[in-house]
Amino acid sequence: MHWCDPALQVTPGFKKWNHAISLLLHVCSGITLASLESLALGENLAKRSLTANITCKHCGELETANHVFLHCNFARQVWDLIHLWTTDFKPSDCASFGEALLLTIQLKNLPPLGVTGNIFPWIIWGLWIARNLFVFENRVTTPAELITKSIRNAQEWTMAQANIAQQRPPSSHGLLDHLPLDTLVCFIDAAWQATTQRAGCGWIFFTLQGERLDQGTSIFEHTSTPQMAEELAIRSALLHARTAGYSRICIKSDCQALVASITSKNYPTDLYGITRDIEHLSLSFDFIVFSFIPRNMNFLADSLAVLIL
Ligand SMILES: [Zn+2]
Repeated sequence: MHWCDPALQVTPGFKKWNHAISLLLHVCSGITLASLESLALGENLAKRSLTANITCKHCGELETANHVFLHCNFARQVWDLIHLWTTDFKPSDCASFGEALLLTIQLKNLPPLGVTGNIFPWIIWGLWIARNLFVFENRVTTPAELITKSIRNAQEWTMAQANIAQQRPPSSHGLLDHLPLDTLVCFIDAAWQATTQRAGCGWIFFTLQGERLDQGTSIFEHTSTPQMAEELAIRSALLHARTAGYSRICIKSDCQALVASITSKNYPTDLYGITRDIEHLSLSFDFIVFSFIPRNMNFLADSLAVLIL
């Protein structure tokens, strides 16, 4: 679940969900949507009335995530120097960090890089580290140094993952081993704005082999609570799955209370109608299971929900 501050519209993204999850856990735990809001960026400090240093040390503009990671001259120099992907793509041309990260899901790394996952977050992480060194220690990182270091980190991590995979017995590879082989995994999330009572819902379907099948979003007005937003997101995803003809699905939501209420059939009074809808829709599938996923692993659905809001 994502509670939106209207002034903060920042995001990230991916390709295969297993890459996504491992990248998120091992690399981007510092730059998920949620934690971007807590980064000590000038924009965020200003919101907390800590207005002493809210401008970019490179150029003096307000220090937003979009500025630091995409549009500052320093970031532009980095992105201009980079040739990471088989197609020509410049994140600095994107309007927002979220848009850039979602677009990188589709990109293929150039083979000589030796990096299998999405390399974009590694460069973002490099920009963040460089920013901190400059702000707190007055140490300047050149764009070339930043790129070299970021790629080296990504290569080392890729090699480490390969070593870990070799050491692991096949049965321990995933939490989804118990599911029927043709089950589709659906990551769902909602973003909710208290001021407008709007909910943005996002869902994304993957095969168990990690191939992304499709995704969708919807917006609901007059949504009174975050949990109602989550329920609407699940109902929307189930309607989509039924229309698409999916018969076996595993729903992943980061709203633990909701998953508990659906699985125990102990429905909250104020959401009884929607929850019954979900129960009714569930009967359309040969196999359906609802399970909880930690918020930092629900990165893609979170991004979709926030972008639509
Ligand atoms: Zn700047």
